[in-house]
Amino acid sequence: MELIFKGGCNEVGGSSLLLESQGGSVMLDCGFNIGNGTHPEFTDAELGTVNSILISHAHLDHSGYLPHLFMERMYKCHMTKPTKDLMALLLADFQRLQKIREVTEAAPRFTPNAIAAIIANTTCHEFNEPWKVDGGNAPTSAFNISLHNAGHILGSAIIKANDLLYACDINCRATKLLNHCEPVSAKTLVMESTYGGREDVLPSYKESTRQLVAKINEAHAAGGCIMIPVFAVGKGQEILLILESIMRSKVIPEMPIYVDGMVKKATRIYRQNAIYTRMEIQRRILMSEDDPFSSKFFKVSESRERLDVKRPCIIVSTSGMMNGGPILTYLRLFAGDPDSKLIIVGYQAEGTIGRKILEGAREIEIDGEMVEIKCEVSMIHFSSHADRNDLVRFANTVKGLEKVYLVHGEPQKTSELREELEKNFDVIVPSAGERFKL
Ligand SMILES: [Zn+2]
Ligand SMILES: [Zn+2]
Repeated sequence: MELIFKGGCNEVGGSSLLLESQGGSVMLDCGFNIGNGTHPEFTDAELGTVNSILISHAHLDHSGYLPHLFMERMYKCHMTKPTKDLMALLLADFQRLQKIREVTEAAPRFTPNAIAAIIANTTCHEFNEPWKVDGGNAPTSAFNISLHNAGHILGSAIIKANDLLYACDINCRATKLLNHCEPVSAKTLVMESTYGGREDVLPSYKESTRQLVAKINEAHAAGGCIMIPVFAVGKGQEILLILESIMRSKVIPEMPIYVDGMVKKATRIYRQNAIYTRMEIQRRILMSEDDPFSSKFFKVSESRERLDVKRPCIIVSTSGMMNGGPILTYLRLFAGDPDSKLIIVGYQAEGTIGRKILEGAREIEIDGEMVEIKCEVSMIHFSSHADRNDLVRFANTVKGLEKVYLVHGEPQKTSELREELEKNFDVIVPSAGERFKL
């Protein structure tokens, strides 16, 4: 079997790799780098041998290039049911944005028909239930595949293909919504390194919640608002559950929580797939009148300009890196207010408005208009990714592990994680296009 890295090498974005056996191959992930508009480059010969495409989870850096492939021909796709539902939502939004945003102008476009074709060609699988994918003509060249909970977003999977484990992206800590991932035995591990840097030791969930409570209480006392930009899928739902819980238990005062942007639609999909959440949340959604996602605290603005949103309040809105979505409208309204706070809760890719603000920019351009940032900006990690210690621990607990390929990280972080893992394993940081024999 051979392993060919096609994307997500020394970057967060555009993850994809090919596993080739005699005469056939499977693709693991097919992502798009939203930050810079790049994507994996496949040759016709490579695509000609692909029998199946496996998608680890719905985020576009793992699924965003898939519809472009479907513009040429059909492929069989495999993933969990929540991944299929969430991916359809994200791809439809991506298609709409591709039409209007210049950031991806250089990228080839795709049509809604391509998304429909993906859905029609997708087979859903449960966690821990292995199946075989044909790898070509020889009977020995089949791939034995299984999906295992990755704990990252709803339906996210660690993929096992023969003796290889593909762990992008993973969360080793349980959250309000999801159970943490568990290592599976394998000889070869392809692992993310998003938070692999020496400094990337993230606070516990409890500590982060404590920090969030303090910030919210401060802003409320001053009469300001708290803006929390979130990813539509994953972070959005986690933050809503935390806010619902701390407001219900009166740790923070009651005030409207405005939920805005695509996070609303994604939350509906979370509710429809509640059996993939932790038992406590399942029970509340499916077996009681106490569905946390339909809490009375959550409000929706009726105004196009969001002028009915009055302080003090909390705003949870997409997009997570502030590159689009209604969060920009809220920034225009409230970023100039020193009593308000902007709380960043997730990864901010290079080149995004979120990254600029986080790195200290006090003036940003939104649709040609300069907006001053006078509100307090802070970062509270509610990461859906494993941190450095978690990643090292994860690799150390994979039974029979010999070799680790590090992907899905900025070069500095990947190389700092490599130094640590090299104490126990043969570690490789591949470049896009590199090929390895397994
Ligand atoms: Zn992800
Ligand atoms: Zn990712």
